[in-house]
Amino acid sequence: MAEFIPYAKQLVDEEDIAAVTGVLRSDWLTTGPMVARFEQALADCVRARYAVAFSSGTAALHAAYFTAGVAPGDEVITTPITFAATANAALYLGARPVFIDIAPNTFNIDPASVEAAINHRTKVIAPVNMTGLPAPVEEIMGIARKHGKIVVEDAAHALGATDQGQPVGARADMTVFSFHPVKHITCGEGGAVTTNNEEYYKKLTAFRSHGIVRDPALLKENHGPWYHEMHYLGYNYRLTDIQCALGFSQLKKLPYFLARRREIAARYNEAFAGSPHLITPPELPGTEPAWHLYVLRLAGDQPPRRELAERLYARGIGTQVHYQPVYRHPYYRNLGYPAGLCPNAEDYYRRALTIPLYPAMTDVDVERVIGAILGDVESLYKC
Ligand SMILES: *Cc1c(COP(=O)(O)O)cnc(C)c1O
Repeated sequence: MAEFIPYAKQLVDEEDIAAVTGVLRSDWLTTGPMVARFEQALADCVRARYAVAFSSGTAALHAAYFTAGVAPGDEVITTPITFAATANAALYLGARPVFIDIAPNTFNIDPASVEAAINHRTKVIAPVNMTGLPAPVEEIMGIARKHGKIVVEDAAHALGATDQGQPVGARADMTVFSFHPVKHITCGEGGAVTTNNEEYYKKLTAFRSHGIVRDPALLKENHGPWYHEMHYLGYNYRLTDIQCALGFSQLKKLPYFLARRREIAARYNEAFAGSPHLITPPELPGTEPAWHLYVLRLAGDQPPRRELAERLYARGIGTQVHYQPVYRHPYYRNLGYPAGLCPNAEDYYRRALTIPLYPAMTDVDVERVIGAILGDVESLYKC
């Protein structure tokens, strides 16, 4: 039996391992020199002024919404086709997620519907770069500016993506990244917020560590060199030096990771373009996607998605579905979000299947996935 091919996997090499063991032998395990080094490298990579590292992408989302001033009674506009954390972070702050449907065939929030959903309770608009396809953030920033709202971009899928030549990471007021092992680079767990706004940078940094402020310029009083003050109800959302050393080492390999992902995606596009039963991912002019995920969609009224996933699994090929619309999860149903809220998202969910894509895949793996899918799809649509 051939080896199991998961839908995603990290690529950690000896250089990464040496970076981590180096920190273990040093004086600092958490909040030492590697945090600032990783943050600077990330900020440079996405051409933002500041980056603030967090213990996860979810913590980073929580911090970004808090920094934007999201509070009980507010609304956060987002897309249902995302990981639940994008919406959950609004709930953490007592706000209500408002789900706006995706545009047909882009996977991303439809900017035309965003403006109609804005009201006096709206605090943040949170587009998601689904699968690494740049969301229409330019357009959403224009709408947000007109109405005095803040844009927090969820770029957990989009490290290294560009839109009109501009990297994702400095387009919105704040941009959130994740360094979970399935993402482009990993810290084990980890996340970050990038921003060009100095005030946001300071608030994000305080929120990460209990809301405590040490900068003498910001203190209300000053009792001596030890003195610090708690200004907000923050959390312990710090990322360790151990994790930042891994992230820093991984970031050096991002160009290779992106190139390999693009190469595999191009091969998939070529192989699946001829099948009448398969819909390949959208291409958006002027953008260079980061190819976090390769989502195939099955055509027809009764897409045999479940059967295809089961057959592939039996052949040792892992798949996933990204995502069930967030509001269809039982927790969200109980909050009162109705079925049918976002028809494009629900249609997408019926036919979407994420197939394996990660830099460590060999060409032999890629051809094995293609052969299995083309064969299974042919027989599933016959019956
Ligand atoms: C992974 C992910 C997150 C959360 O990141 P974690 O680091 O796992 O907390 C948020 N949004 C999206 C779209 C993601 O894919």
